[in-house]
Amino acid sequence: MAGFNFEALFQIALNIIVFIFGLLVGSFLNVCIYRLPREKSVVKPRSFCPQCKKTIRWYDNVPLLSYIILGGKCRYCKAKISLQYFIVELITGLFFLLFYYYLGLSLPFVIYLVFVCGLIVATFVDFNFRIIPDEISVGGIVLGLIISLAFPQLHNTQNHLLGLYRSFLGVIIGGGIIWLTGIIGDFIFKKETMGGGDVKLLAMIGAFLGWPLAVLTFFLAPLVGSIIGIIIWIKTKSSLIAYGPYLALASIVSLLWGGRIIRWILFRY
Ligand SMILES: [Zn+2]
Repeated sequence: MAGFNFEALFQIALNIIVFIFGLLVGSFLNVCIYRLPREKSVVKPRSFCPQCKKTIRWYDNVPLLSYIILGGKCRYCKAKISLQYFIVELITGLFFLLFYYYLGLSLPFVIYLVFVCGLIVATFVDFNFRIIPDEISVGGIVLGLIISLAFPQLHNTQNHLLGLYRSFLGVIIGGGIIWLTGIIGDFIFKKETMGGGDVKLLAMIGAFLGWPLAVLTFFLAPLVGSIIGIIIWIKTKSSLIAYGPYLALASIVSLLWGGRIIRWILFRY
């Protein structure tokens, strides 16, 4: 019998399961993105059409597929459903796959997925409302500190208190660097340049990644921002751009490739 590769089949199946799980989580993130800035509960009631208020049936709530089948419109009142729902589901699924590829089924995989989910919610709320909900940033700081105490291997140590300390340093230095930039920016431009939301967001990123990667995130964000900013500017001619999404994206780059980037900057290899 020619070799039937069960191992490969199993791997493909696992990838599909991880992707589908990511889509389902993405569907829940959509609920958070809609409800958190409106101060509504994320657990109940069930999802409903914001236009006609009809409860959305499960078969109209299948990630990606329902949006395509319904043509981006409510089944009942034909109100347009934002493409954002589709995009959030898709990128959550893709991030789950990406992290699975780099981390496998492991504890860091689970922890960093929680981290990324928080960033996705923060990013889209920031896009829509120019705010970052404290549930995500302050909640994330607390969660990052607790996780670092419980699983200090996130900060390359077995010592629980050292894990907590490194996480704490990440909060102080991450938040501090943006806070200082804001102070200097306000002084130079005589207007508010950095929001308090950005301070708390990079503090949260520091809690999970530690201070070196938080600092790297700070420097990568304008690079990421200028690329996406140019695209947004071409499409909308708006120079008013939220900064949070770039911090979020830069922190994921730092998380996955930051060690390599820092080594290259310092030692050129
Ligand atoms: Zn409707």
